[in-house]
Amino acid sequence: MEFTVKRFLSIAIACIVIITAYAAFSVSCADASTMPEYIRIGLKYGSSSAGEYEMTFDGGVRLGMGSNEGFTELTAFPDVNRVLIRLESGNIQLIGTKNSGETVILNEGQTNANCLMPYDNDGLVGFGSSQYRGGILFNSTSGKLTIINLLPVEEYLYGVINAELSKSYPEEALKAQAVAARSYAVCNLGNHKSYGFDLCATTHCQVYKGYTDEYPETVHAVDATRGETIQYNGETVNAFFYKNSGGYTQDSQDVWGGNVGYLKAVKDEYSPAYSWSQSFTFAELSSKLASAGYNVGNVTTVSITKRNQSGAVETLQFTGTGGTAVLQKDKIRSVLGSSLIKSTMFSMGEAETVQPSEDKTSTAYGFSKGINRAAELPETIYAVNKNGAASPIAVKDVYVHNGKTTKLQQQASGGSQISNTLESVSGGNVTFTGLGYGHGVGMPQDSAVEMAKKGFTYEDILKYYYTDISIH
Ligand SMILES: [Zn+2]
Repeated sequence: MEFTVKRFLSIAIACIVIITAYAAFSVSCADASTMPEYIRIGLKYGSSSAGEYEMTFDGGVRLGMGSNEGFTELTAFPDVNRVLIRLESGNIQLIGTKNSGETVILNEGQTNANCLMPYDNDGLVGFGSSQYRGGILFNSTSGKLTIINLLPVEEYLYGVINAELSKSYPEEALKAQAVAARSYAVCNLGNHKSYGFDLCATTHCQVYKGYTDEYPETVHAVDATRGETIQYNGETVNAFFYKNSGGYTQDSQDVWGGNVGYLKAVKDEYSPAYSWSQSFTFAELSSKLASAGYNVGNVTTVSITKRNQSGAVETLQFTGTGGTAVLQKDKIRSVLGSSLIKSTMFSMGEAETVQPSEDKTSTAYGFSKGINRAAELPETIYAVNKNGAASPIAVKDVYVHNGKTTKLQQQASGGSQISNTLESVSGGNVTFTGLGYGHGVGMPQDSAVEMAKKGFTYEDILKYYYTDISIH
């Protein structure tokens, strides 16, 4: 396989049609100032919604009206412990089953009712394989049932922390996560208002698993920071977080556009090493681009044409038989696959691995150009060919086999070794090699854990990653 790997230090590219319009990602809060008593978390909605759902209420159930302000009871059914919610000719029907086995329509004549609450205030709702605090809001949107957990904000957070950051992590990291999660929730109320709820329970908003995923450690982290949010200029911040910064966090402007005072790039001295590698054939790239609406024909060259202040890739250009496309900022990950391209802090090399003749079992990386992991090597080193002739090569051109790679990847944490090198790969396939995991904006959870281990408080952690903020 022949490869052409070109490097540019400066690039002048004419006549490139930039086919990009990155997703409108809100970096400011819709309603930052007020924290509601209750929050609405979508459990089932839209295309994932089934025709009917059953839930259990061990000590009886109450029917009423629920909102962010709370719950108003209309009728109580202390002897009903099971409710089937279903759509009947477009209308929601609630079929309750009593302990005796007798069934009763709970919402007969109650057209304003939209919420089921356990009869006892601290009762739990059984739904699917989980249990939930609070109650269940229901509605039908576009002919589909929507099932929503309505509960106090603080109790919602009990069911978030372990799912976002394991309960086994140090207390101060869990508290930092609790305050960030609370701020994010307050800032993103109504994210899914077209379905009648605030946040979904997945990574799209924040992962939430209910009472089933509460632990003493995570409940403590929430209680110890009760009501505290991150403030910037008197408003609650949109406290973005993610797994690993790769050594440098990203300015929101460089990822989504939109200048936000507290979401600035920070050189991350606490980032544990996290590296990844992903190869694609050019045919795979062509198909990914086409599915996203970028029709460039068959890809022939991939080029990094701009890096941002953190060293991450800002523009990735694809030249093909039918045109050119440029992916910018977060579009790079969303088009190529954000679980494959784990961060935009990457470099490129050819996809073929070099098998060292001495060690056929080891996989070698074409270790790439933009991330100069060889900082501790002498400036000039020599390659020896098979005839024994030595010739000097630049450190940045060195390809490292995996035994040494592990060590050098460790050195790469801290991010100062990300260079501004631009690269171009032709030849049929490409390997992206990168640092970090996630969008890079705000607090990296791995670093929060690292800071907590080093004895920093949750306030220290939050103030390190969110610029010019206070905590109230
Ligand atoms: Zn969501």
